[in-house]
Amino acid sequence: MFTSAFKSTGSADMKMNLCYLCGKTYARPSTLKTHMRTHSGEKPYKCDTCNKGFSQAANLTAHVRTHTGDKPFRCPVCDRRFSQSSSVTTHMRTHSGERPYKCKVCHKAFSDTSTLTKHIRVHSGEKPYRCTVCHLRFSQSGNLNRHMRTHKEQNGGVNPAGAYVAATKDLSRSTSPYLPDHTRLRDWTKEAPKIY
Ligand SMILES: [Zn+2]
Ligand SMILES: [Zn+2]
Ligand SMILES: [Zn+2]
Ligand SMILES: [Zn+2]
Ligand SMILES: [Zn+2]
Repeated sequence: MFTSAFKSTGSADMKMNLCYLCGKTYARPSTLKTHMRTHSGEKPYKCDTCNKGFSQAANLTAHVRTHTGDKPFRCPVCDRRFSQSSSVTTHMRTHSGERPYKCKVCHKAFSDTSTLTKHIRVHSGEKPYRCTVCHLRFSQSGNLNRHMRTHKEQNGGVNPAGAYVAATKDLSRSTSPYLPDHTRLRDWTKEAPKIY
């Protein structure tokens, strides 16, 4: 029908599909339509397993692999397999030594964003990991895990029992007659208590 339209080499024809919301242009109307879903929040692609919705078919495909364990992407250097192509890109940096993510504070470089995010907490003092037993806070999950082992060794067992033992111990300490009431309150509400 309109095959003659393809003879055009002008770039003007390629930029006809303009997103009126963000100004991005697309070569094909179908691509624009897919893009528009990022604005509308429409997610027509649903995962059969967990019913999660996705705006793009490619995102659903990548997600389904987390259920199936399918890993079609392979590192050409060490043969390790990955479920997402982006993971291979990140992984390849461990071979190349490339570190494109830099800390703005100390200029240390990192191979991926998650490691950089963790590192930045060193400067910000942010401590999102909290011990469920003694409520000490940690900036890195690894430090918390190491800390949790000290509770297991102390109580020789599982967390819930350990939590109870630690809580009663603290309670008897803070109800000591030598401590005035306001000190007791402060001890319980204060962040990152160093009460040992
Ligand atoms: Zn747009
Ligand atoms: Zn799913
Ligand atoms: Zn590799
Ligand atoms: Zn830094
Ligand atoms: Zn603890």
